[in-house]
Amino acid sequence: MNKMDGEMDKSQFLCDLDDAGISFIISTPSQNGVDTCVLPPSKVLKFMTQPEAVYADLHGITLRDYLQWEAEGMSVQCSARTKAGKRCKNVVAGGASVNPKIWVDLHGQYCEVHNGMEGKADIQR
Ligand SMILES: [Zn+2]
Repeated sequence: MNKMDGEMDKSQFLCDLDDAGISFIISTPSQNGVDTCVLPPSKVLKFMTQPEAVYADLHGITLRDYLQWEAEGMSVQCSARTKAGKRCKNVVAGGASVNPKIWVDLHGQYCEVHNGMEGKADIQR
């Protein structure tokens, strides 16, 4: 049996378990601490090696956005740079402890200090 057959057997086995009413419950990082959700059998094998990619899938966002959401402490940080050239770490209005979907929506906005100072026409409020 080659590796592909082994993977196919595992996928089929997971579907058989699902058909039998056995669910795969995972804990996902959340702005509230931890959420639990049901993992479709088709995502179980991927979850074992690339959990972040599956979390991103479940939220309907890209892996890159998901990782940035985590890296910014699940809050939306201002997109401006400080005078020292560092990224401003202030949280934008309504962007504290948000879920990944809202994070994606608010990403790219500016904090109260930088809002307006950037003079960007594409800032949406
Ligand atoms: Zn700022």
